[in-house]
Amino acid sequence: MGKTKTTNQWENIPFKTETREILNILIHSLYSEREVFLRELISNASDALTRIQFELLTNREVVDPEVELGIWITCDPEAKTLTIRDTGIGMNAQEMSENLGTIAHSGAKAFIEAAQTHAETISDIIGQFGVGFYSAFMVAESIEVISRSYRPDETSARWVAHGEETFSIEPSEKTERGTTVIVHLKEDAAEFAQEDRLRSIIRKHSDFIPYPIHLGESTEPVNEQSAIWRKQPSTISDEDYNNFYQQFSLDMQEPLLKVHLSVDAPVQMYALLYVPASPERSIFSLRKDEGLKLYARKVLISEYSKDLLPPYLRFVDGVVDSEDLPLNVARESIQSNRVIAQLKRVITNKLIDSLKSLGKDNPDKYIDFWKVYSRYIKEGFATDPEAQAALTPLMRFPTSKSPDGWVSLEDYVTASPSHQDKVYYLLGDDVRLMASSPHIEAYKAQGIDVFLMADPLDSFVLLKLDKYDGKELVNVAQVEAPTPSTDPEEDQEENAEDQERVERLLNRIRSVLGDRVSDVRSTKRLVESPARLVDADGALKPELQRVYKMINQTLDEKPKVLEVNLQHPLLIQLGKAGAGKPTTRLVIEQLYENALLLEGNLTDPAGMINRIQELMSAALGDSHD
Ligand code: ADP
Ligand code: MG
Repeated sequence: MGKTKTTNQWENIPFKTETREILNILIHSLYSEREVFLRELISNASDALTRIQFELLTNREVVDPEVELGIWITCDPEAKTLTIRDTGIGMNAQEMSENLGTIAHSGAKAFIEAAQTHAETISDIIGQFGVGFYSAFMVAESIEVISRSYRPDETSARWVAHGEETFSIEPSEKTERGTTVIVHLKEDAAEFAQEDRLRSIIRKHSDFIPYPIHLGESTEPVNEQSAIWRKQPSTISDEDYNNFYQQFSLDMQEPLLKVHLSVDAPVQMYALLYVPASPERSIFSLRKDEGLKLYARKVLISEYSKDLLPPYLRFVDGVVDSEDLPLNVARESIQSNRVIAQLKRVITNKLIDSLKSLGKDNPDKYIDFWKVYSRYIKEGFATDPEAQAALTPLMRFPTSKSPDGWVSLEDYVTASPSHQDKVYYLLGDDVRLMASSPHIEAYKAQGIDVFLMADPLDSFVLLKLDKYDGKELVNVAQVEAPTPSTDPEEDQEENAEDQERVERLLNRIRSVLGDRVSDVRSTKRLVESPARLVDADGALKPELQRVYKMINQTLDEKPKVLEVNLQHPLLIQLGKAGAGKPTTRLVIEQLYENALLLEGNLTDPAGMINRIQELMSAALGDSHD
């Protein structure tokens, strides 16, 4: 790093204020993952190689048109230097001054702000904001960049910076095309002059750089180069897929699902997507955030792109690589890019299709997926109107016939009798309680299956799902539920005397329960149970009631209607019991609270115990009579 003998216009040029601020942050950062600087320098070399490769397609009038496109890395532990050389497009003095001395205005401001507010995640910030080259200052005392532009009439130059204040540029002797970056390492960064250390960093961060990376004397490139996602799926074993996933994520659990796509229209794309065994990342995971790794022509554009999938599919991890994305797609403009929108559409559709197929071809595996990720799919269904049709086939719920199983709407409809023109469901909190709910007795008796919706999110789903395959979805707890085929003759047989007796009984129950119920009436829809609670006419839909409760909205709940089964022995006896008998009141109270309990709405279980004990003593007393 000799000084030029004569002062010239290129000496001690101050860095722009914002660059200085960034360098200051990086030089003094205590960031522990400093190794990412190498990834950044390699990625710059790779960018430069891609650009010359592009140029060479149409222009052979360049310096060294035949030279191998590659990256050479050497280190000197004694001198504590690390050298990264490429045969890329190169820079002249002017370009060095511009590219290495300043930083895009918006990017700089955003980086400084982000670095101040999220100091912990500075590595992602480094990647995202294009401060790549400067990250070398985390490990460097000084940096030299020697470069020869591809344009034959240019001269080569050498750029040097010792710190955050100034840089200098002077002529250089370099004759071969490309750029050499020499990092003079800080005292505490000597590890980066160890070949073994460098090899593992390259394998970890730059394995799929599409140009050979030569390290030290070794003749074989250290990087894999050919990206697995660009290969033919038929040539890749399950083990290869899992190995790649582990290398990529450090998640030691096998992924639940992988989807490998190679698409040509409407947009060219390779994608290798994984559904992790669990949506929670371990602290050892290499993937620190949600989003897909996005490459444009094998060059990494974004480590965590959140623009390629709808938010509800955020648990998906993997790589997307498109030939149709412009390489210079500025990082801030990714979201508004038209190709990105197309990629998102294709990836989302293909992913949902794969899940659908899995549900058909490997139902057990699909249920494993559903148990872990149903809340994401339901979230998508409830929040993304465009996705509803596509997501409906992914839904699974237990039913009254298989309370431990998971039934799709399609299978439900296929299995139901041809005359059944509705899809029935019950909302609740506990599948086991629901399976023995009085609400489904009449359906059971007729052999009709009922979906048991016990997940809090099901209410949100039901608010958007009112029909399937032309069949209306009906809540069996609502008054409008259909009557079983009853004999109309039967009704008429009831004589006036009977009706009076019934009215007396209902009135007695009404007077005991008071305004805890809006009414008491008889029903023929119960088979084994003595009573059930149903919504009063004009009450809020049950799913809305649940949604309101869940978002902590207080709502004026209309008291429910108690429906009683007059055929039930308990009611028959109650009808006969003398009005003055003290246990009558207790029995009515208990009847009501049993129904509350089955709804999952009992609020005073201790009070119920007391009453049961009173009833027990009364029963024992009776038996002594
Ligand atoms: P980014 O790569 O996001 O543009 P960097 O800070 O990593 O940001 O690099 C700044 C600029 O310096 C690059 O855009 C490029 O123009 C130039 N540059 C850096 N390294 C090289 C290289 N090895 N060959 C050619 N140009 C380079
Ligand atoms: Mg870069």
